[in-house]
Amino acid sequence: MKLELRGITKRFGAFTANDHIDLVVEPGEVHALLGENGAGKSTLMNVLYGLYQADEGEILLDDEPQHFSGPGDAMAAGIGMVHQHFMLVPVFTVAENLMLGHEPAKFGILNLDAARAKVREISDRFGFDIDPDALVEDLPVGAQQRVEIIKALSRNAEILVLDEPTAVLTPQETDELMAIMDELRKAGTSIVFITHKLREVREVADRITVIRRGKVVGTALPTESNEELAAKMVGRAVDLSVDKA
Ligand code: ADP
Ligand code: MG
Ligand code: MG
Repeated sequence: MKLELRGITKRFGAFTANDHIDLVVEPGEVHALLGENGAGKSTLMNVLYGLYQADEGEILLDDEPQHFSGPGDAMAAGIGMVHQHFMLVPVFTVAENLMLGHEPAKFGILNLDAARAKVREISDRFGFDIDPDALVEDLPVGAQQRVEIIKALSRNAEILVLDEPTAVLTPQETDELMAIMDELRKAGTSIVFITHKLREVREVADRITVIRRGKVVGTALPTESNEELAAKMVGRAVDLSVDKA
């Protein structure tokens, strides 16, 4: 599914967090949203997910304008969101977690057996290695994140938003997530990958949109040097020599 954001503007009182933001994500594309802390990345994705209402602008899916009055609407339209802080209930099993939230029955998750079957189907398909009967609190962070992804895919997400997904991961889990993004892309899922880490963007992104102080600075390609990308993020030349250690 193709995603297009046109002129999205979101204000909090007198402060403009998103200022006429345009963004196009093609089907099966990993599109990185790159920007330093406070640039407005999460706000934009919360608008996309129906958590915030935009003051101006439009959301289009396959060229059709959408009106999301809440996350339930966004989910039903095929948007999946994995937040920085997981929305799972730790004392429940993976399958039980699939049954929580927005109308799981709509997506064929009618009972615990159906939820288990769904977890197995998605886990097998993408090699996630998740046991439907595991307690979420017993899983490592990387596996909990895969449960969040399974939950989104179980609701037929075609566009998956990952908001700084590697912030909580070990280096090995980060590599695993990169491989997962690649598998999902091959399956035609579009991914919006939010980060401020240049290495990750260069490794996995097809295209990059750079956001600075609520505005789109421009698009960039993963082939650009760290210095070029960092300069776009902060609007001036950057010395990255410390990062290279
Ligand atoms: P990013 O995800 O790029 O780090 P955010 O979208 O979280 O940035 O935040 C962008 C700006 O909007 C920040 O200055 C932040 O303080 C402000 N902001 C975010 N959410 C709210 C809110 N609910 N109320 C007021 N200001 C907010
Ligand atoms: Mg954020
Ligand atoms: Mg305007």
